[in-house]
Amino acid sequence: MKQIDNRQWILKSRPHGSLSINNFTFQETKVDIKKLEDGNILMKNLAFLCAPTMRNWMDPPSKNLYPSIELGQPILAPTAGEIVESKNDSYPVGSKISTLSSWQDYEIIDPKLRPLNLISENLTPVESIGKFGLNSLTGYFGLTKIGIPKSGETVVVSAAAGATGSVAAQVAKLLGCRVIGIAGGTTKCSWLTEEIGLEGAIDYKSENIDSCLKELCPDGIDIYFDNVGGNILRNAVQHMAKFGRIVLCGQISTYDSEQSASGPEDMMRLIYGSVRMEGFLTRNYAEEFSQAIQQLQHWEEKKQLILKEDVRKGFESLPQNYLDLFSGSNEGILVVSV
Ligand code: NAP
Repeated sequence: MKQIDNRQWILKSRPHGSLSINNFTFQETKVDIKKLEDGNILMKNLAFLCAPTMRNWMDPPSKNLYPSIELGQPILAPTAGEIVESKNDSYPVGSKISTLSSWQDYEIIDPKLRPLNLISENLTPVESIGKFGLNSLTGYFGLTKIGIPKSGETVVVSAAAGATGSVAAQVAKLLGCRVIGIAGGTTKCSWLTEEIGLEGAIDYKSENIDSCLKELCPDGIDIYFDNVGGNILRNAVQHMAKFGRIVLCGQISTYDSEQSASGPEDMMRLIYGSVRMEGFLTRNYAEEFSQAIQQLQHWEEKKQLILKEDVRKGFESLPQNYLDLFSGSNEGILVVSV
């Protein structure tokens, strides 16, 4: 019987409030290759994307549309890796793939249940989930499909120095918009104005968001790209221009809360402003991914777009690195490679 050593990070307990390192436990198990059934593949995970929404998956099952990880099971995560055993002719051994796998070295996957994306030859596994992965695509599609920017419009982006936000902000600049970023701390705010040339930056940790928005967006906000929700969303709503669009991308400021993510204080503000507020999932645009990746690669090659990857090493440190998303200690797309 052929068995392979398999390290795992397991959901030990459900977080109440802030996620902590104690919610995870490490274990070593074996994968039995004989259990590989017809149609299935065995994936070796080489890189793990740290995605904020995985925090939602650690909550108990709810009426929400996202999955709930069972206690005692490995943490579900977008990953990239290699097929090391296969009983599926469409996915031969040696193929590089990205998919929804979990925090373990190896996983047996049925491609009918978990779609596999073949990684194109010009990308490494890290790049496929990193700079040319879900977050960059989210910034691109959220802005262009939901925000529908016009040259000269004022765009405000929250978590603007992060993986998704920095792409949304830079694409808005490339399309001729005036862009204001909101981020935590002076280092991130300086990066926004000095490195990627935004017209302004607001440090939400030390500045008054309301008065900064009044000063930096005197004619109102045409597009608010919302990565964080909560108080920053409520402030932005009060400054929306007529016919403005709010791109509901994420609500990270609420993920650690026991309460569900709440919305604007005054819905009449949206009615009288004819403001459209719309959520989206990036996978809605899956058919356009390869075209969008080419566009991002083109901008990056021309040095018109900076795609920041924060690649950490080591399977052992996965939970600790994941927690950095919530303290803002990540500098761009957070990927853990093994
Ligand atoms: P990221 O922006 O690279 O990292 C998360 C950042 O959020 C942190 O660096 C931190 O930046 C900020 N943050 C954390 N806690 C916060 C709080 N309480 N208040 C304000 N800001 C806070 O992560 P990402 O992966 O690109 O995700 C950004 C957002 O996009 C998340 O809400 C995520 O769920 C969403 N998303 C949505 C989709 C979709 O399909 N709709 C797909 C991918 C991601 P600061 O240092 O600036 O605080």
